[in-house]
Amino acid sequence: MKLIFLGTGSAFTVGDQNYHSNMLLESPQGKRLLIDCGSDIRFSLYERGLSYQDIQDVYISHLHADHVGGIEGLAFNTKFDSAHQKVRLHLSDTLVPSIWDNVLAGGLTLLTEGKMQLSSYFEVEAIPAKGKFTWENIDFHLIQTVHIKTENELMPCYGLLFRLKETTIFITTDAQLTPEITHIYSQADLIFQDCETAPTPSGVHAHYTELIKLNPQIKKKMWLYHYQPGPLPDARAEGFCGFVKKGQVFNFS
Ligand SMILES: [Zn+2]
Ligand SMILES: [Zn+2]
Repeated sequence: MKLIFLGTGSAFTVGDQNYHSNMLLESPQGKRLLIDCGSDIRFSLYERGLSYQDIQDVYISHLHADHVGGIEGLAFNTKFDSAHQKVRLHLSDTLVPSIWDNVLAGGLTLLTEGKMQLSSYFEVEAIPAKGKFTWENIDFHLIQTVHIKTENELMPCYGLLFRLKETTIFITTDAQLTPEITHIYSQADLIFQDCETAPTPSGVHAHYTELIKLNPQIKKKMWLYHYQPGPLPDARAEGFCGFVKKGQVFNFS
């Protein structure tokens, strides 16, 4: 099984030849699970010699465009390709109404053949709170993160905890550094951590200057991604595994 980083950039990444932080899990049998599908996806797949035709399953962590903006293209392409089966769309049940109403309905509702709904395009798997989905006999547990929060509202956003061979992997997706994610660190052998590197912290992602204060035992199993364009600090010197590079492949066999 391979975990491939199609991109490692933040939401507004341009230049540096990088793309949105979307990942691909590839099984030895050639099955592919896309982890998030941002608006850069058609370029980032193309660069690896892939297209929507190679994707059977998609997981969506939350509804920012760098994670979901490529879904309309995926829906149209697969709908009008009779050789392609419906993509299975795995996401928290809290996201199901809003991915249609607030992200997709504007473009996807009306086709010449009539009115469509989410299930016209995708095989939808709505995952209940604290639930999981299974792909290629691997259980992916959803971990709710704190990404955007007001006094009374929390934007639904879910990282993934799963096991490949002997390795337990935690992908934070977009997350502030809060107990919701730090209490998962000890369960994981390998952590892929959202890491903002902008000079001024946005407050909605973990920032490098906070992450360097983590316990060395945690940092030595942590890779950093979802960073801004431009020069990066020396993460290895600070005890991290490093910054993931676009196109980097992690092999679990
Ligand atoms: Zn993001
Ligand atoms: Zn986000």
